[in-house]
Amino acid sequence: MTFDVVFLGTGAAVPVPTRGTTSQFVDIHGHMYLIDAGEGVQLALRTHKRKFQKLKGIFISHMHGDHVLGLPGLLSTMSLLGRQQALDVWGPPGLKEWIDQTWMSIQAHLSFPIHVHCWDDEAPKVLVEGERHRLVSIPVKHRIPCCGLRVEEHALPWKLKGMKAKEAKLPFHVRQALKRGESPEFEGQQLDPTSWCVAPPAARSYVYSADTRPCQSLRTQGQGATVMYHDATFNAADADRAKATYHSTTVEAGRLARQADVGTLLLGHISLRYRDLEALRCEAEKEHGRVLVAYDGLVWHVGS
Ligand SMILES: [Zn+2]
Repeated sequence: MTFDVVFLGTGAAVPVPTRGTTSQFVDIHGHMYLIDAGEGVQLALRTHKRKFQKLKGIFISHMHGDHVLGLPGLLSTMSLLGRQQALDVWGPPGLKEWIDQTWMSIQAHLSFPIHVHCWDDEAPKVLVEGERHRLVSIPVKHRIPCCGLRVEEHALPWKLKGMKAKEAKLPFHVRQALKRGESPEFEGQQLDPTSWCVAPPAARSYVYSADTRPCQSLRTQGQGATVMYHDATFNAADADRAKATYHSTTVEAGRLARQADVGTLLLGHISLRYRDLEALRCEAEKEHGRVLVAYDGLVWHVGS
């Protein structure tokens, strides 16, 4: 089952040809979402051959320009190309007014309905509960209200060894418990699901930190993520600057990923001041064993 993240923009604050501002395209089991919409996002989607008319929803982490200024242009193009299907947009308080005012000032209207939903910056909130996947917002610690995002698959049921269960005459409720991975009691014995079932492949998850200081909520919601993309705007030597601007350093990103037992850490929101990306990676690697610096155009197959 497809679970890909395409990194469209991995830079901080100012877009340049080699590194755009923040935007990511997610395809989970054929459901397409956009995470943030930095300036230039629609061109980046075209460059990386992702069909934006297929987007089901757009998640906006916060109202800083490098995360949201590409949104009006993208919506406008979707409309010009005749989109009819409704679009969900999740974001901070004020996003709906900003979109409405933009369309009022340019005296245009959209060809499709937009449903703008507010996430909660106090507690994680389930934004999408699909049949096989879920999107959950994660309140993080930035200068203004900001949320990260967890995109995850639902765990599949265990597959019961049918013949064995039949021979043992396991009743229905015992079979169901085993399929949930539980250890039910049968004829005075505790059954071990691993000997009665084949375990499903592990459910995969992708966590986006957005712009943030390291924080408990990200540590909790990021727990066990297959992949985490973490703000690493600054190197270790610029820790004071990271603190003052409510961003993180490479080392802080690495430490949080280690504490949350994340599989792979991708460093992002990289400041243009750093040329030596390998040095940034090495700093984070002192804290976490599997680290890469994300770049524009990187396609990550979650769980590969
Ligand atoms: Zn920001």
